[in-house]
Amino acid sequence: MNNLEQCLKCNLCTLVCPMMEVNPDYPGPKKAGPDGERYRLKDPAFFDYALKYCLNCKRCEVACPSDVHIGDMIQAARIKYGSQAKAKGLRGLRDWTLASTDLVGSLASPFAPVVNEVLQLKPVKSVMDGMLGVDKHRTFPKYSKQKFVNWFRKQDQSGFDRFVSYFHGCYVNYNYPKLGQDLVKILNAAGYGVHLLEKEKCCGVALMSNGFAARAKKQGAVNLASIRKAAEAGEPVLTTSSTCTFTMRDEYPDVLGLQNSDVRDNIMLATKWLYEKISSGEIKLKFRKDFRMKVVYHTACHMQKMGWQLYSIELLRMIPGVTLTVLDQNCCGISGTFGFKKENYGFSQKIGSKLFEDIRTSNPEYVATDCETCKWQIEMSTGIPVLNPIEVLAEAIEL
Ligand code: SF4
Ligand code: SF4
Repeated sequence: MNNLEQCLKCNLCTLVCPMMEVNPDYPGPKKAGPDGERYRLKDPAFFDYALKYCLNCKRCEVACPSDVHIGDMIQAARIKYGSQAKAKGLRGLRDWTLASTDLVGSLASPFAPVVNEVLQLKPVKSVMDGMLGVDKHRTFPKYSKQKFVNWFRKQDQSGFDRFVSYFHGCYVNYNYPKLGQDLVKILNAAGYGVHLLEKEKCCGVALMSNGFAARAKKQGAVNLASIRKAAEAGEPVLTTSSTCTFTMRDEYPDVLGLQNSDVRDNIMLATKWLYEKISSGEIKLKFRKDFRMKVVYHTACHMQKMGWQLYSIELLRMIPGVTLTVLDQNCCGISGTFGFKKENYGFSQKIGSKLFEDIRTSNPEYVATDCETCKWQIEMSTGIPVLNPIEVLAEAIEL
């Protein structure tokens, strides 16, 4: 993972770093990554607290011709040396709350209508802005009163002879069950039954980026144990979030040191799995004749890092009635919980501005993307609704 000696000093990574463009305090991928690591290994006092600005978007790694694990190096340095930089007091409470997605989701969900209303009130937003440092301009994703797992328990999945497992993630469970419901409906229509994992925890991405690596590792170990059981039963583990997928496949071993080589290939985005099954003729879906939708596709940064945007794009292209435009890849700027924080909100919106402009110019009915936090950022900043490609597919087929 720490392959700094491979750096050719070509500076290509600095050309694509979205944070460098908007923040003169950020040293950029080359200095924060391989150059900085050389110094940090000699003396940890060389750790630069400006590394907190790294979005972990991995665009630098995509651009690097020498496969230097720049983003991983920065993430690992933040975990190893940056614990003193963790926010204290009310800002520390904010970071802990933003990172504790399972706990906050399970507390908020039963009172969803009230919580959603309260989080929109201007005085509440002002207090959160002033005291906690959650920017008042940010819109919170709404909570759902019915959790996805509660809906799923009522679905009869017994009449199938082929099964897949589904890692729903906290967003589907507490905020947006519709996405998981759409996937289950598509899979059932394709002749597959769905199982949930024996135990599922948040993938841990928000914990890692807020400095709670030990908790992320614990949750990752629980997820991997359940993914192994699914693999033993011969079931692929499908996902609907590019960030959860990337975290469990690549960040677990590269940043958290969790060995997953035996099951890594078993964790797969549902769009990739469906595209491969449909294009090979193994799955046949019946499409609605009257379906029409004008869509632009936004490639989330972690999708680009995995190189899997092609599957989502081709899946959308397979749908009769979809008029699709693929946008140039630009970071949306939210980077999970980063863009919620008052000190980062301005950078977040500046970084996303190119993407917002491209979307507005294309004037679509919907934006499609595989990342939920990109969805929050784009909907808030452009007013145009965002769907996961799975939702577009579910809308287009006859169920
Ligand atoms: S991960 Fe993204 S923000 Fe961080 S150094 Fe690389 S390109 Fe820049
Ligand atoms: S792109 Fe890769 S090889 Fe070039 S300077 Fe950056 S880390 Fe080094």
